[in-house]
Amino acid sequence: MSESIVHFEDVRKTYQMGVVTVEALRGVTLAIQAGEYVSIMGPSGCGKSTMLNLLGCLDRPTSGRYALGGEDVSQLDDDALSAIRGARLGFIFQSYNLIQQLTVVENIEVPLYYQGGSEEESRTLAARYAERVGLGHRLDHKPFELSGGQQQRVAIARALVNDPLVLLADEPTGNLDSASGVEILRIFDDLNQQGKTIASSRPRNRRCPTRAIKASFCNTG
Ligand code: ADP
Ligand code: MG
Repeated sequence: MSESIVHFEDVRKTYQMGVVTVEALRGVTLAIQAGEYVSIMGPSGCGKSTMLNLLGCLDRPTSGRYALGGEDVSQLDDDALSAIRGARLGFIFQSYNLIQQLTVVENIEVPLYYQGGSEEESRTLAARYAERVGLGHRLDHKPFELSGGQQQRVAIARALVNDPLVLLADEPTGNLDSASGVEILRIFDDLNQQGKTIASSRPRNRRCPTRAIKASFCNTG
């Protein structure tokens, strides 16, 4: 069994659009070791989101093998994938995807609902992660009261609260002004320095202080 946190072996993903077959990933083999920070780079349409969705168990490969933490997750059913997402993965989207009716601390707590801890433990842990991303003073605010950069920091805290094996982010700075984007990337750098394994996409030519240990280019479509 592989020692890697993530192991893709000849992973393919095709989409059927009527009579047209789109090959989004044409056989990607990739290993991500604990503590690595991988940037997934390439032009629009090259398969970055497809790859992150597969890594994040939001979708299944058409063929090939994906082992996460040594466990083959390539062909699990929806319920099993959702259990894996909740317990072992943290995902950050370009558009934050916060629940608008919930406060900062409540949003961060969402992944904990399914893990069976007490309400008090969940609240304490969520507040600690809010502090970790610099939002300890905004616990009771709703998303619409926050800037884009602050909302993305809530999303990061939510993705971290279950101490995932790997933190996945699809163009996490795509909706932000450059100063807020730099702040988000600095949080990623800090998390990686502290040992967190990260895989994140970003557009080609985007200048940012991210230290990409390994870049993985997907196949162009
Ligand atoms: P990127 O994130 O690098 O811009 P994507 O992974 O979104 O690229 O897309 C890769 C290719 O797969 C593109 O040609 C895109 O049009 C196609 N694609 C992505 N998602 C779907 C889908 N749900 N249905 C059909 N085609 C898709
Ligand atoms: Mg994309």
